[in-house]
Amino acid sequence: MTKITPQPGIMEIALYQSGAAHVEGVANVVKLSSNENPFGPSPRAIAAVRDSAAGLHRYPSTDHGVLRKAIGALNGLDPDRIICGAGSDEIISFLCQAYAGPGDEVLYTEHGFSMYRISALAVGATPVVVPEQDRVISVDNILAAANPKTKLVFIANPANPTGTMIGAAEVARLAEGLPEETLLVLDGAYAEFVEGFDAGAGLVSARDNVFMTRTFSKIYGLGGLRVGWGYGPQEIVDVLNRVRGPFNLSNSALAAAVAALDDQDYVDYCRSENAKWRGWLAEALAECGVASDTSCANFILARFTDQAEAEACDQYLQGQGLIVRRVAGYGLPNALRITIGDEAACRRVAGAIKAFKEGRA
Ligand code: PMP
Repeated sequence: MTKITPQPGIMEIALYQSGAAHVEGVANVVKLSSNENPFGPSPRAIAAVRDSAAGLHRYPSTDHGVLRKAIGALNGLDPDRIICGAGSDEIISFLCQAYAGPGDEVLYTEHGFSMYRISALAVGATPVVVPEQDRVISVDNILAAANPKTKLVFIANPANPTGTMIGAAEVARLAEGLPEETLLVLDGAYAEFVEGFDAGAGLVSARDNVFMTRTFSKIYGLGGLRVGWGYGPQEIVDVLNRVRGPFNLSNSALAAAVAALDDQDYVDYCRSENAKWRGWLAEALAECGVASDTSCANFILARFTDQAEAEACDQYLQGQGLIVRRVAGYGLPNALRITIGDEAACRRVAGAIKAFKEGRA
């Protein structure tokens, strides 16, 4: 028996399950399992990556100054209070590393994104799961569970995999009601899909206990390059920079993110196509008896009669070359999460679910 053992908590981590990309024996699959942008990145981001290739022998910028300035300019934020990470996953991990450890609690909600738990366990902290109210985050339940051992509270708004949101007044009430020892983290991975939404940036600016995370993986279509960012109180950003690796973002990633920010027409196009086909798909599913909550993100959580029906539908869709996401691991065994694809993908998935339901009628 080896005497070399990992730190407490590590062996409790269940490996992250990413959305499937292939179906054995089926060609031409449509991947609707990872909330990716069906249109890909902006052509400007692609060109920036190409242009960056000749400089790959150089180490990247350590302070991400150009990208932070561009993010600050677009969002009206102070670049000094912005930190960039290899995806927002890395920012979540920095927050746990810097602020939680053995004996501390990291709180998130019933159907919350799985990296909150993984990052809490990785630092030996105790994950605490708070019930939601019909797939919507409950501020009352979080406030009831929070105590001075609670170092971090993570909420995604809009949330994944439910797609639901809570309003700004509720988020402010949460920030106001938490213990003094607790940092509230607002995960805005899907914020850009909500027109005019600041993801809580205003609340971060006004308070010293709120932090916001964002990503280039969703509406910007750059999940493969790994770029995310955080905005928070200066002291907290300074702390996080101490645990951040000096070269955590590559030259290509930095160049692509700056170019993507510069193409807001493309972002607007992606947002409006998403909203249009999300509404269409929700209606098409409702017509064949598959309910969903109003989604504010780039996916729909389709609810089936029970787990057996959800699994059978998933199997059927796979046979048709359509890959969606099972979410039993998120406490939603009777549901499937379907990323909003382009028009053709939405029509295909709606048609297939209709055929599946008719076959069972
Ligand atoms: N937060 C939420 C709610 C997410 O759904 C995701 C992506 N699945 C992330 C954070 C992390 O995304 P990334 O690391 O690609 O920025």
